[in-house]
Amino acid sequence: MANFYCKCCGKKYSSLTQLTSCSCSMSSTRKHVLYEGPEQTNYYCECCGKKYSSLTQLTSCSCSKSSTGKHIPYEGSEKSQYLCKYCGKKYSSLTQLTSSSCSKSPAGRHSPAK
Ligand SMILES: [Zn+2]
Ligand SMILES: [Zn+2]
Ligand SMILES: [Zn+2]
Repeated sequence: MANFYCKCCGKKYSSLTQLTSCSCSMSSTRKHVLYEGPEQTNYYCECCGKKYSSLTQLTSCSCSKSSTGKHIPYEGSEKSQYLCKYCGKKYSSLTQLTSSSCSKSPAGRHSPAK
């Protein structure tokens, strides 16, 4: 992968050393956190399933379903079916998956497996 992104603020770096040595205004630890998913045309929030065309956009909007109040990028790739990592239930979209409640998840909501 040629670019490294912070999953808290969406900032792009050309090296991991650069990313980890700069401070991040949006992270709770004040450090950028490496986004470990693939570079893709669409990015989804793993808490609410909302779609954005860039990580910068995703991270700058607030999320009503996330515990931090910010969207958290889903680090898996786009697929035809998404599985809940707690109960294994399948959904055809992240929006559907995140809007249903899950009895096995600590947050009470399904959370997508990568
Ligand atoms: Zn950052
Ligand atoms: Zn969200
Ligand atoms: Zn579930």
